[in-house]
Amino acid sequence: MAELEPSARVAVLEAALCGEGPSGRNGGFLHGYWSSLTRARRVFGDGGALAVAEAASAIVPGVREFVERRGVDVWLREAPMLEVSAAPAQDEAIDAAVAAARDLGVEEEAVPVGRGELAERCSSTSFRRGVLYREGATVQPARLVRALRAAVVDAGVVLHERTPMIRLRRDSPNVVETPRGRVRAREVVIAINAAAAGWRPLGRRLTAFGSYVVLTEPVPELLEAINWTGGESIVDGRMFLHYFRTTNDGRVLMGSGSGPIGFGGRIDERFTADAPSVARAEAGLRFLLPGLADARVERAWGGPIDVSADHFPFFGTVPGSRVHYGAGYSGNGVGPSWLGGRILARLALGIEDELTALPLVNRSVRPLPPEPIKRLGGGLVRGAALRVEEAEQAGRRPALPLRAIAALPRVVGLRVGTR
Ligand SMILES: Cc1cc2nc3c(=O)[nH]c(=O)nc-3n(C[C@H](O)[C@H](O)[C@H](O)COP(=O)(O)OP(=O)(O)OC[C@H]3O[C@@H](n4cnc5c(N)ncnc54)[C@H](O)[C@@H]3O)c2cc1C
Repeated sequence: MAELEPSARVAVLEAALCGEGPSGRNGGFLHGYWSSLTRARRVFGDGGALAVAEAASAIVPGVREFVERRGVDVWLREAPMLEVSAAPAQDEAIDAAVAAARDLGVEEEAVPVGRGELAERCSSTSFRRGVLYREGATVQPARLVRALRAAVVDAGVVLHERTPMIRLRRDSPNVVETPRGRVRAREVVIAINAAAAGWRPLGRRLTAFGSYVVLTEPVPELLEAINWTGGESIVDGRMFLHYFRTTNDGRVLMGSGSGPIGFGGRIDERFTADAPSVARAEAGLRFLLPGLADARVERAWGGPIDVSADHFPFFGTVPGSRVHYGAGYSGNGVGPSWLGGRILARLALGIEDELTALPLVNRSVRPLPPEPIKRLGGGLVRGAALRVEEAEQAGRRPALPLRAIAALPRVVGLRVGTR
């Protein structure tokens, strides 16, 4: 906003410290929407899916340009992203991703990869086949968020950390109340991630899920041994997906989007201290990368994910007000929040252009059930889906009742998990 309209007076109210939320502790995957074409076609149609993926193609060059201009090192490493199948039930998603890109005439964005090439990029006996998305990069997220914070301050934005919004009065001007003062503002942008599940205008459109990661000690020699030296970021085909990458200091980060489901907008220890989720991330590391059996896990942590019913974000303005919102990144938010920031700046400044015309903006999102049904139903489905995926990975056929419960959301057009 400050870049587009230097005369605008902008203040950021941050409940904690910038980057204390997921932006400072995510897996660092930087990717837009080429890997989501199958779903995007269903939600936005072919033209809309292409428009969203093409707009998001500006993310990696945009972050590159930002770090070069600012002269900061955020460990940006550009390399393709791989999606691998690690169980027969995951093969279909790989094939569908390739077919979607081919149907839309962008086959270079999702290229099938056989076992041989997979082994050259990252050798694992668990990988069956894969698809290579040429768009991809990784960052060290805390470095990126600190660089963004510094840029915001340099742009003259007033930053108030440890200043939560405790109430918002939608008015003209709007009034944002904090424990120690209030801000009057003609335009307000709400960008509070999973906490928005507790904000009335968005509560029915979001649910919060936990995502957890483990980080190994530096193991450059083991990475050499499995040929994983090209910096590829990798995800598997599970609904509660595993996401894994190498770091600039030779470690491996393995994430599992299988954390607990939240209640409303409450961000509590479910998202930071859930030992079974940490154990699942480590089990994923051992299963997906058997060549790293000797790598010691040094750190583990988690955070909340703002999940929408179709797993795409949404941006808009609360009807009859000048309060704008963006949420629903659903676990893929590092790159998309770069795009989201541009969209939100335009909404607040009243600018209409190709970004505000994207189908992510002012769209209707399928509502989720109210609490406590959302928490209870989501928890039931999550438990069943986890057991189904674990059975599939172990080569067993999951019990029919479990499969039926896990499939429930799809029957009514919703998705659970963080994919
Ligand atoms: C473990 C984990 C791994 C992930 N891995 C990846 C990945 O590899 N790639 C990827 O693309 N995405 C990943 N994600 C998701 C990604 O981190 C998020 O989508 C993204 O960081 C969201 O950015 P944001 O600015 O919307 O939210 P945040 O970074 O969470 O910022 C929102 C801020 O709002 C503040 N806030 C909340 N309530 C209030 C209030 N009332 N008043 C004032 N401030 C408030 C919070 O303190 C927070 O700092 C991961 C998430 C987690 C938890």
